[in-house]
Amino acid sequence: MKPVYFDHAATTPVDPRVFEAMTPFFCERFGNPSEPHRLGREARSAVDQARARVAALLGAGENEIVFTAGGTEADNLALFGSLARLQPGHLVVSAVEHPAVMEAARALNGRGWDVDYVPVDGDGVVDREAYRAAFRDDTRLVSVMTANNVVGTVQPVAELARIAHQKGALFHTDAVQAVGSLPVDVDELGVDMLSLSGHKLHGPKGVGALYVRRGTRLQPLLHGGGQERRLRSGTENVPGIVGLGVAMTLACEAMPEVRPRLERLRDRLVAGVLARVPEVTLLGHPTDRLPGNAAFAVRYVEGESLLLRLDARGFTVSSGSACAAGSDEPSPVVQALGVRPEDAHGSLRVSLGRENTEEEVDAFLDALPPIVDELRRMSPLYAKR
Ligand code: PLP
Repeated sequence: MKPVYFDHAATTPVDPRVFEAMTPFFCERFGNPSEPHRLGREARSAVDQARARVAALLGAGENEIVFTAGGTEADNLALFGSLARLQPGHLVVSAVEHPAVMEAARALNGRGWDVDYVPVDGDGVVDREAYRAAFRDDTRLVSVMTANNVVGTVQPVAELARIAHQKGALFHTDAVQAVGSLPVDVDELGVDMLSLSGHKLHGPKGVGALYVRRGTRLQPLLHGGGQERRLRSGTENVPGIVGLGVAMTLACEAMPEVRPRLERLRDRLVAGVLARVPEVTLLGHPTDRLPGNAAFAVRYVEGESLLLRLDARGFTVSSGSACAAGSDEPSPVVQALGVRPEDAHGSLRVSLGRENTEEEVDAFLDALPPIVDELRRMSPLYAKR
């Protein structure tokens, strides 16, 4: 069987139709969109078209979209950009944010901002009581992700945004994992800012966008030629932006078919793993989760060893622990769910995508139990249990 890719939360293959749409903008239609000549105007019109697509798919206006070099930059622009002109006050983020938000919040903390990290329950959902209690008179901004990249839990963003607004704070959501997988409408969510990224939805890497609601005051991170309505200077990544526009269009068009199919595949995988491997728990919310995300804590194994054995058998998965720079700390997200550290070490994330099949899931279900068995037999903890 050919290798099976089950790591779509990390990144996705570029759709050939996206690649095809991008290709002319490298060698032929390579103009700089700021130039008034024909080549420049062609590039400008391609960027405008992509902006119109992205905006329409989010229910936003075209002048509310700022193209960035990916999700990380969009998150940083949201946090630093909206707070830059204010006196340091208070910022609220969830305890399960991606490092792009978490580290930006920590950096703001270093600049005098107080940060509250609101806990989540055992399913990974923001604790509403703790959330309400976190607000202060000087709370300026809240950032809670739409869906989690490790355990897949979808947050009640509309409700959380409403509360933030009642308290007079702005609300940003990192929707990098959600856009393209779930319907995302900025008015239904009621958010002020929303981040997305191309490479999670079969588009190119290094391109993303920040939605900024009209009237939200933002300072740029980058100063220069004043592109993107002065909010993101730098010559536009025209092929990337074109790719993002096409990728989002294709993902949203296919969603009515892909989403239920992925949910069925995911549920088959979850049920199969829980039935065939003892001492495994599902991580994340049982139903309010990304269509393709199946995450587990496998007791008495190291997530990293499991990942490598599965890789050797042709299955690309993630340990979910994102051993940052060689650290063997279990994932902070898994720990935030209250999973015991010794269990959090055995986290496994399987993230399915639109090209995956039932045969691939079944092959994985056959491959996994003997590998877990073998690893457990080598574990002193397992022998002592
Ligand atoms: N936010 C979330 C939830 C993510 O999963 C990722 C990607 O891993 C990012 C932000 C960062 O996006 P990018 O890789 O485009 O910088």
